[in-house]
Amino acid sequence: MTAELDLALERRIGNRSAAVIEKQLGISTVGGLLTYFPRRYLTRGELTPINEIPRDEEVTLIARVLSSNTRKMVQRKGSITDVVVSDDDGQAGLRLVGGTDYRGKVPGTLKISFFNGFRARNDLLPGRRALFSGKVTSFKGALGLTNPDYLVLDEDPFMAGGGDAEKLAAMPIPVYPATAKLPSWKIQKAVEALLDTMDLDALPDPLPADVTAREGFMPLGDAYRLIHAPKSADDWKRSRQRLRYHEALVLQSALARRRAQIAAEEATARKPVPDGLVAAFDANLPFTLTAGQAAVGETFAAELGRDSPMNRLLQGEVGSGKTVVALRAMLQVVDAGGQAALLAPTEVLAAQHYESIRRTLGPLSGDGLLGGLGSGPAVQVTLLTGSMPTAARKQAMLDAASGTAGIVIGTHALLSDNVSFYDLGLIVVDEQHRFGVEQRDALRAKARKPPHLLVMTATPIPRTVAMTVFGDLETSVLDELPAGRAGITTHVVGLAENPGWAGRIWSRSREEIDAGHQVYVVCPKIGTDDDGDFSPGEAAPGEAEPVNLGPGEADLDTGPVRELASVTAVVEHLAQEPALKGVPLAPLHGRQDPAVKSAAMADFTANRIKVLVSTTVIEVGVDVHNATLMVILDADRFGISQLHQLRGRVGRGGLPGTCLLVTALEPGHPSRRRLDAVAATTDGFELSQEDLKLRREGDILGASQSGGRSTLKLLRVLEHEDVIARARDDAHRIVAIDPDLTAHPALADAIDKYLNPEKEAFLERG
Ligand code: ADP
Ligand code: MG
Repeated sequence: MTAELDLALERRIGNRSAAVIEKQLGISTVGGLLTYFPRRYLTRGELTPINEIPRDEEVTLIARVLSSNTRKMVQRKGSITDVVVSDDDGQAGLRLVGGTDYRGKVPGTLKISFFNGFRARNDLLPGRRALFSGKVTSFKGALGLTNPDYLVLDEDPFMAGGGDAEKLAAMPIPVYPATAKLPSWKIQKAVEALLDTMDLDALPDPLPADVTAREGFMPLGDAYRLIHAPKSADDWKRSRQRLRYHEALVLQSALARRRAQIAAEEATARKPVPDGLVAAFDANLPFTLTAGQAAVGETFAAELGRDSPMNRLLQGEVGSGKTVVALRAMLQVVDAGGQAALLAPTEVLAAQHYESIRRTLGPLSGDGLLGGLGSGPAVQVTLLTGSMPTAARKQAMLDAASGTAGIVIGTHALLSDNVSFYDLGLIVVDEQHRFGVEQRDALRAKARKPPHLLVMTATPIPRTVAMTVFGDLETSVLDELPAGRAGITTHVVGLAENPGWAGRIWSRSREEIDAGHQVYVVCPKIGTDDDGDFSPGEAAPGEAEPVNLGPGEADLDTGPVRELASVTAVVEHLAQEPALKGVPLAPLHGRQDPAVKSAAMADFTANRIKVLVSTTVIEVGVDVHNATLMVILDADRFGISQLHQLRGRVGRGGLPGTCLLVTALEPGHPSRRRLDAVAATTDGFELSQEDLKLRREGDILGASQSGGRSTLKLLRVLEHEDVIARARDDAHRIVAIDPDLTAHPALADAIDKYLNPEKEAFLERG
């Protein structure tokens, strides 16, 4: 049906062009190139002559490169490429401005700087003409552009003007995401060739006719034509709207269909029992549940008791008490004779969950010595990770398989083929770093009957992200913190502008310790020669740059040459630090022996260790109420949600917490915006919005989207909330009436392609 879209590209645009496109863009099908949309559009009518460019405004200009010079930066690693351009060559582009003839005007020159502009260095050779677009900045009195978008122009007559000036002036120039070897105008030519050979009007339309009518959309064929070759701004705006909705509907229908399919499955009902573990647990709780915890708990209790699988996302602020709620759900399943599995993103975190859950359960945790003692209900909690000694792992596997273990905690490796459960009733995913839809499916497949599923986010996420990334799950929210939280104050400590503060951090730590409290020090690396101890899924160091500079330009300044703080180096340094003389401190990181790790944690929990120097292993699960100060070194190396999560470790008891975000980056560096954002608010929802804005969207959705790479093209989860919401309603309506989409074959096809983008191309060529 959509055979045309699956066709190999060389069949339509010739071998040579197709080969270049495949090599440079990784696109091999007709549909792939057809949906490779321009990133933006430039209009010649908006051109500004260099001599008239206004400070602090966005400008677009066409100019010729006079010279280009790349030099190393003095203060830090990296280079700057300075390109001097001039509009002194009588090119038509300039004369078209607003229909005015600029021939009489004095030409100007302008300096354009690119940080680590490897692409710019290759693209912008002297003599080349290009279109530049960016914000005018002034540096020491001279106006210039820094990291502008640019588009190297072809010298063909079309681009040089010549024809109908008025019309050309209004005609938008599409700007495609380009690579150094494949500039935008070449992509444009390939797309034009493709559009010429295709019967666009015959393409099946996934949008139902009533939706198209309601929204006033143009026909699909027109939308493809006009998004690539608009005659006016109105053309591309309207075609984008149509194709954006298309994207939203396909995505939401995929999720709605999935949700309906899962809801139709049969699960084992795990009804609450009156005198079981849950009751005993509640009776021993040292606090009362918040209203939110109680309400969410009731929802879970009811849904676990039904014979269709619960599929829930639990969102909640750091410290809102999600673990307690999840634990009560697990205990209900154990009470009903089933097992529960808790999946953590890393081994260290699995071990920490294990410790803290056993601590929270106290005598109810019936393993080891405690097992035989009590007379009431008990549950065996078992840890199962890949790094455990063979004998212990075998025992844990045996306990899981025999049903002796009621709660099994591990990484998702525990759901690999060789691990089996006697009767797995509930899977809790501690969604610290977002498992994708496929992993959720792999988990479900582990149980004989579909198990109940609870996914917990580490921090709250915007509604549209929940709808997009977790659209197959129902959502519960814990929106209040337990009473008695004294709050956290966060400061950015900028060492670049205040080098003296480096020492002040440690005297401040000493004050906390003298007051009887404890301190966390977090470093981005373990040793002096490694790449860190990052949990999977979180941005690795250097990749966290939240910058979107221009056409595919990801090469921003990556930070100082100076060594990043490492646990080993900091422990050594602090042992010599006068302010911390005599203070017991210990390192903690993922590469330590498990016994050493748990000893360090136990010592810190018991207040024998005053300063814990660690990697992000403490991000989750650690719960020491006496810790009041958190120092995060080279904080610019961490993502927003990670920082928010980290600081949630202090200010937990009745004691107010302080978090110091230490950075050596200069004020104004893009990566410092993250720190300012974290310091400005403790509201997790607000921060996740900010996070989304600062990161490239693909980083957020990338791994969680099916197919690996981000498949969202025109849809932006933050900007297009209304589109997503409407598409979601449409999708639910469609799926409710037609669960298998038999009456909507084009939509069903589009969903399949969305879920398996690689597979189709592969089949075609094979
Ligand atoms: P998170 O939602 O970040 O996972 P936790 O479940 O780790 O939060 O809970 C944070 C801390 O708050 C823990 O020490 C937990 O025992 C405590 N806690 C949870 N619920 C309550 C409550 N209702 N009242 C007081 N303290 C609570
Ligand atoms: Mg937690």
